[in-house]
Amino acid sequence: MNTTELKRLFNTPTTRLAATYLLIIMAMSIGFSIVFYKTSAQQLHRQVPPDALLVRPQDDQHKPDPAIRQFLELRAEEGRDVLRMRLIAINIGALLLGGGLSWWLARRNLRPIEAAMEAQSRFVSDASHELRTPLTAIQTMNEVTLRKPRLSLAEAKEVISHNTEEALKLKSLSDGLLNLARQEEIGVSARPVSLPDVMTEAINQVLPNAVAKGISIDEQVPKVSVLASHFPLVQVVVIILDNAIKYSRKGSTIVVTAERHGRYIRLHIIDQGDGISEADLPHIFERFYRADSARSNSQRDGYGLGLAIAHAIIRQMHGTIGVTSKIGKGSHFVIALPIAKTQDSL
Ligand code: ADP
Repeated sequence: MNTTELKRLFNTPTTRLAATYLLIIMAMSIGFSIVFYKTSAQQLHRQVPPDALLVRPQDDQHKPDPAIRQFLELRAEEGRDVLRMRLIAINIGALLLGGGLSWWLARRNLRPIEAAMEAQSRFVSDASHELRTPLTAIQTMNEVTLRKPRLSLAEAKEVISHNTEEALKLKSLSDGLLNLARQEEIGVSARPVSLPDVMTEAINQVLPNAVAKGISIDEQVPKVSVLASHFPLVQVVVIILDNAIKYSRKGSTIVVTAERHGRYIRLHIIDQGDGISEADLPHIFERFYRADSARSNSQRDGYGLGLAIAHAIIRQMHGTIGVTSKIGKGSHFVIALPIAKTQDSL
């Protein structure tokens, strides 16, 4: 290991935090040892009696025997030596144990912060990557058009329509990003919300897309209230239904049901679509994640933000969202939300 590598190792946040902890531990241990040593040394010194008490009646001229004083002072000095050695040993022990403990504590405290910072920088680089694609398309189209000596009205219209389409993509991407940031930062306030009302509103929003693909939505949600926030929950259901429509064949059916499970209501949204591969399943709630099949199919718009938004909203409502899926068979999304106290019957 060369000096630069050593420097880098000692300059990590973990090492610096561990060193600070260790410094505090050692300052306390050494400070305590000094006070303890001083007090004990004083006590040992006080064990040596004054000359008047050392005089024996048979002593000449009432003078103490110097051998007795020497002996007592030697004993006191020995006591101080033993005390010093023990305190040094204790402090070495504190240094070793404290070093290990400080390192462990620093790692434990910094891990979530490091993970958050890593996620943040990944988010920024993913977002800029996604933003670049439509921007590059607009730039290229404009440059190619500008190089043309003459431009017909039809060509100009084509360029404008292409650029408008890309601008719309940019807008939907920035809306998605804003939405996600808002969910993660502000949070949602939970109150009793009627599940059938949420379903009706969500289905009304996605109905035109479903009708266009000849997909029917079979909704059988019982009269039940959950602890949630109305509009964000509608948004979640719309995201999942939209995907179910987007990734399903023409003429298929989407089934929506709900059942009670302990203190929770489980909402099931089941489609007969493409399904999600086992490799993609663990990642689909991550920001910007799109399964290969979705990415390669240019007709299916999206930036892989929908499910990340849905996940953030449901987490804010203290609920859970999960999915099981089989390629070619379809996907089954389950949202679990706490039942509201003012409960209608299931
Ligand atoms: P997108 O905008 O790409 O749909 P989402 O976050 O909503 O982004 O979904 C992430 C990915 O999960 C999609 O790209 C798609 O591959 C997959 N996915 C989501 N829902 C379904 C579904 N019902 N059927 C098949 N694949 C799905």
